[in-house]
Amino acid sequence: MKYYSTNKQAPSAGLEEVVIKSLAGDKGLYMPERIPVLEKSVIRSLKDKSFQEIAGIVAQAFFGGDIEPDALTAIVNDTLTFETPVVHVNDNLYSLELFHGPTLAFKDVGARFMARLLGCFIKKRGVDKVVNVLVATSGDTGSAVANGFLGIPDIRVFVLYPKGKVSPIQECQFTTLGQNITALEIDGTFDDCQALVKAAFVDKELNQRMQLTSANSINVARFLPQSFYYFNAYAQLDRIGKADECVVCVPSGNFGNLTAGLFAHRMGLPVKHFIAANNRNDVFCDYLNTGIYTPRPSIATIANAMDVGNPSNFARILDMFRDDYQAISQLISGYRYTDEEIASTIREVYYAHHYLLDPHGACGYQALAKSHLKPNETGLFLETAHPAKFKETVEKIINKDIEIPAKLQAFMKGEKHSIALGKDFEGFKEFMIQGFDNSKIQ
Ligand SMILES: *Cc1c(COP(=O)(O)O)cnc(C)c1O
Repeated sequence: MKYYSTNKQAPSAGLEEVVIKSLAGDKGLYMPERIPVLEKSVIRSLKDKSFQEIAGIVAQAFFGGDIEPDALTAIVNDTLTFETPVVHVNDNLYSLELFHGPTLAFKDVGARFMARLLGCFIKKRGVDKVVNVLVATSGDTGSAVANGFLGIPDIRVFVLYPKGKVSPIQECQFTTLGQNITALEIDGTFDDCQALVKAAFVDKELNQRMQLTSANSINVARFLPQSFYYFNAYAQLDRIGKADECVVCVPSGNFGNLTAGLFAHRMGLPVKHFIAANNRNDVFCDYLNTGIYTPRPSIATIANAMDVGNPSNFARILDMFRDDYQAISQLISGYRYTDEEIASTIREVYYAHHYLLDPHGACGYQALAKSHLKPNETGLFLETAHPAKFKETVEKIINKDIEIPAKLQAFMKGEKHSIALGKDFEGFKEFMIQGFDNSKIQ
C-alpha cells in the first residue's frame, strides 16, 4: 500500500517510510491510497471470532502487502493481550471499555502496535542508527508510548512532560521504566513540551544527525490499529443482537480515535451514526454546526486528555470526505460539556446506575444520553481511560475513595528518574546532540 500526504505536496511513500517519518515532507498527514472494504460475510462472521482474530483480519487488509503474514500475526497477538469489553450501563447505552491494557488507556493499543511494527522494520533494515521517538505528553500518551516501546531494540523514547502538571500516578508510569525510556521534565506547560517536539521535527541539523519520529496519532501505525476495537465491539454487540442500529460516540481530543472509527465504517463496519464528544475545547463542534474551522489555544479542563485546540487529525477527516461539509455533518454530530456538566454526569451515573465513568467517558455517555436514541438503536460510547487514573478528580466528585487497580499500583513502586530541562529549544537541542551518543546501542 502507498500512502499520500493530506497536503498533496510530497511524494507518496511506503509503510516503512511512513512509520519511520510520521509526517510527510510537506507537513501533511499520511493517508492510505485506498481503504480496503471487507466482504459482508466477513463482517457477519466476526461474532464467532476472538479479538486477536478480528484484529488480524483488519490488520491484514491494511498492512498485509507490506509485511510477512507471520510477522503481522505476531505483532497483532503481542499487542492485543487484553480484552476491550462492551459493558451495559443503562437502557440502551453501552460502554466500550478500552482501559484494560498495560497502562489502562486506549492508547496502549496503538502505541504497542506501532512499537512492534517499527521494531520489525528496523530489524529488517539493519539501520546503523537508532530511531528516536519524541513524545510530548500531558499524562496518558507518555505512559502508553513508554510502556509500548519499552525494551524494543534500537529505538529510544524521549517523553517530554510539564513539571508539576501531570498526576503522580501518570508520572510514575513513564519515569520508573529505565532501559530505552528517558523522561524529560520540562520547566513549562504541556504546550511548551509540544512546541519543543514540533521544533525538533523541523530543525535541519537535528534531523541530519538523528532519525526522529513521533508516536502521536499523526503516525499511521499509532492511529490505524485503533480501528481494531470498533470491529471487536461490533462482534460483541452482534452476539447479543444489538449491533444493527448502532450509534457510536467518541470522546475526542486530537481525533485519532474518531478517525479510526471512520476508517472502520469505510471498511464496511455497520455504524449508523457517529458522535464526537468534546469538553470546552470544542472547535470540531463549531465546525459541525457552522462549516467553519477556527483553531484556538487549548483550555484546561478535568478531561485533560481532550484539551486540544487544533486537533491534528482534522486534516485526515477533511481528506476522507474530500472537504464535503454536508457529508461530514450528516455522519457525525458534536456535543460539548463544561467541567460542571462532566462532574454531574459522573455523579449521576455512579449513584443511579452504579457505573463509574472517568471524565472523558462521561462526555461520551452524556452525549449519547442527550441524543434521543430510538428504542431500536444501541448507543455505544468509548470509555477511554480507567477512572482511577483521575483519582483525585473522581473521588472529589463522588465523595468517596476509589481503589487503584494492581496494575497501576505496580508502577508506583519503582524509582523515579527524569532529567530536568528548560523550555528553550536551544537547550533541548544541545541535550539531544551532546547528551546522547547517537551510535547504535550495543
Ligand atoms: C488521548 C485521549 C483521548 C482523546 O483521543 P483522541 O484520539 O486524541 O481524540 C480521550 N480520552 C483519553 C483518556 C485519552 O487519553
